[in-house]
Parts: sequence; C-alpha cells; structure tokens
Amino acid sequence: MKILVVGAGPAGLMFSHQMKKLKPDWDIKIIEKNKPQEVVGWGVVLPGRAPHHPANPLSYLNDFDRLCAQYLEEFKLIHGSESNLMSTGITLCAVERHALVGSLQKHCKELGIPIEYSSPAMSESELNKDNYDLVVLSNGINHKSTYFREALKPEIQYGKNKYIWYGTSKTFDYLHLIFKVDPKGVFIAHAYKFSNDMSTFVVECSEETYLNAGLDKLSDEDAATFIAQVFKDELEGHTLQGQNGLKWRNFMTLSHQKSYDQNLVLLGDALQSGHFSIGQGTTMAVVGAQMLVKALNDHTDVPSALESFNAKVMPLMHLFRDHANISRLWFESVDDYIDLNITQLTESFDARRRPLPPLAAALAQNLSEALQREPAKTVV
Ligand SMILES: Cc1cc2nc3c(=O)[nH]c(=O)nc-3n(C[C@H](O)[C@H](O)[C@H](O)COP(=O)(O)OP(=O)(O)OC[C@H]3O[C@@H](n4cnc5c(N)ncnc54)[C@H](O)[C@@H]3O)c2cc1C
Repeated sequence: MKILVVGAGPAGLMFSHQMKKLKPDWDIKIIEKNKPQEVVGWGVVLPGRAPHHPANPLSYLNDFDRLCAQYLEEFKLIHGSESNLMSTGITLCAVERHALVGSLQKHCKELGIPIEYSSPAMSESELNKDNYDLVVLSNGINHKSTYFREALKPEIQYGKNKYIWYGTSKTFDYLHLIFKVDPKGVFIAHAYKFSNDMSTFVVECSEETYLNAGLDKLSDEDAATFIAQVFKDELEGHTLQGQNGLKWRNFMTLSHQKSYDQNLVLLGDALQSGHFSIGQGTTMAVVGAQMLVKALNDHTDVPSALESFNAKVMPLMHLFRDHANISRLWFESVDDYIDLNITQLTESFDARRRPLPPLAAALAQNLSEALQREPAKTVV
C-alpha cells in the first residue's frame, strides 16, 4: 500500500503516525510546503489530560510531558470593569502549536515516515504521478485555494468579523473571554496560556470597528500596539506579538458534502474547518485521522474503506460545522448582547450552542468506535 499525505499539520501527521504503527510495512510519505520550523499559529486548546484522553494528540506522544502543556479548568469572562470566574466543568489542555507539530513530526520520523519539506503539491498530476493507492489531502485551509478535484470542490463561507491571532508573554491562567467597548467599537479577545511563559491572544471585531480603528491602514506593528492599548488592563504592560503568515482575516469555513473522490480523501481543516471560538479544529483532525485509520484497517480495499469512512465522518463533520457556525454567528452579533449585564452576557454565551446535539458526545462515540480496531486485514 502506497500512501501520499499532503500537509504535515496535526491531521496529516496524526494519520501517518497511527496508520504506520498499525501497518509498519505500508509505504507512507508526507510532503509539506513549509520548512520544519515554519509552523503558523501560537497555542491551541485540546481536550483532557494527556496521556489519558484519546482525543488529545499529546496522549499519543511519549514526550508529551516535555511540551509544557497547560491544564485549564476555569473560565473568566470579562465585560468592561466586571468579571465572572467559573469552572469549565472539564479539563482543557493548552499547548504550543509549534511544539505539538514538532513532536508529531519527530514521532513520524522515528517510525521511518519520510517528510519532504518545502514541497508544495500544486496540481493533481503531481499527486498522481507516482501511482499512489491513496492520497490524503490534509493541507488545511488554503486562502490561495488549490483544489485538486472538481468533485471535491468545497463550499466556502467567510465570517463577517475580522480576526487576528497574536501571542503575548502575559500568562493568562484561565481561559479568558474579554469584551471591550472602545470608542471605535467592540473588541473581543480569546486568551489563555499555552506554555509557562506565553499565551494565545486572538482578537476579533466587526468589519465596521476594524475600519473605524483604521486597522486596514496601520502597519502590523502599529495595529498590535493599538490592540494592546485596547486591552491594556488585562495585558498589564505586555505586548502583542505577530507572526509571519498571521494577518487580519475573515474566518474561512470550508465545508464538503463528501470526503473522498476515487483514491483521494480529505482530512482535518481541508475537509471541514470551524471557527476558533469553539477551539475544536485540532481535535476534529485527530478524531478524523483515527476514523480513517480504522476504515483502512477494517476493509480489504481502498474504495470500500473510503466509503465507510465517508458514511461515518460526514455526520460528525457537519455537526462540527453547525457548532462552529452558531458560535461564530454569536460573536458576529455581539452588538445585540453587549449592553447586557455580565450575568446575562455569560448566560447568552453559554446558551449559544444549546440548540444543537452535543459535539463532545458525538466525538467520544466516534473516537471510541475508531479505536476498537479489528485484527488487521490486508488492504490492496
Ligand atoms: C485563530 C485560531 C485559533 C485556533 N484555536 C484552536 C484551538 O484552540 N483548538 C483547536 O483544536 N484548534 C484551533 N484552531 C484550529 C486548528 O489550528 C486547526 O483546526 C488545525 O491546525 C487543523 O489541522 P490540519 O492538519 O488539518 O491543518 P493545518 O494545521 O493547517 O496543517 C496543514 C499543513 O499543510 C501544509 N500545506 C498547505 N498546502 C500545502 C500544499 N499544497 N502542499 C503541501 N503542504 C501543504 C501547511 O503548510 C500545513 O503545515 C485554531 C485556528 C485559528 C485560525
């Protein structure tokens, strides 16, 4: 079995690692457009405590305790001068994306999986040229879109808010959601520590607020200084740090009706992306990867494996999409809630996903099925 994996992010790496562990004689190769050190993004939250939680990718890494993960069990909502500190009711694990991806890459290499860096796949003919039995397209959200198959063309939806992903040396000990009413408009920050000395700090605002503040005209440095001033009470003198490749954007939701065409299958964000306000994208990538491993292990040929994968993964992906969209829309409608008092605002935030079936339960069920693997069959 010869497999090409396009993209060395959490989805492609997790799939390759778990597949190779199960099928050591399969020929798996990863190509990645960036260099190894070029991992875009700061920290992300993952579910549960490693090594116990199966949806947390750290649970599959024997060096997880060296990644300086931070465990978060409390949530603080700040609305102007008021704040509300609550238990999240669950444990969340925040980790640096660079450290997570670096460790996954190391684990893949240890299993003998080659990763070719600075190797962007640009066209479908490149994917076909070496006659792969399976091509896993795990190349994330592509702002400069590269679609390899007409049959897999995604539906694309852009969020109305502008957002940017900063890092800061201010360590936010809890998950923070901060609402600021500035003369230029409402700004919202999502912040939490992801290592001993760094936090993620994602900021979003309406397009109108973005333009009122002149953020479209400011340099990256001046924009970061302006936003740090808006959140000066919380940042306590710490600056906001930008990163190459992270700009003010409108969130892009990629959705598909089908996850595969012939021998090409989509995984991770490339299959379904979802707004950062529910913090689930990496978890979805991990669970999707485990579901694909299970399907390939349980079937004797690629077409039936992909059909089975598709039947199971699409309902889960669509539930993820619905949760992410309902949450994104809540943040885009913040003007409707911003005059509420802090108790009402907290309740409205908490209630935003209640109309939907719970995502956590669906994830747990799919993952537990995926991890019950029958003795290996021979795939041809
Ligand atoms: C602001 C923000 C905050 C987030 N916070 C969280 C969070 O708290 N928790 C969480 O779980 N998720 C979070 N996410 C989402 C999470 O980052 C993604 O869901 C996750 O990275 C998806 O993994 P992936 O492997 O599918 O894609 P990616 O991580 O994007 O990896 C794709 C890889 O493919 C490579 N690539 C792209 N094109 C090509 C090509 N043509 N050829 C070869 N390689 C290519 C890229 O360089 C990259 O390495 C957040 C996202 C954003 C934007």
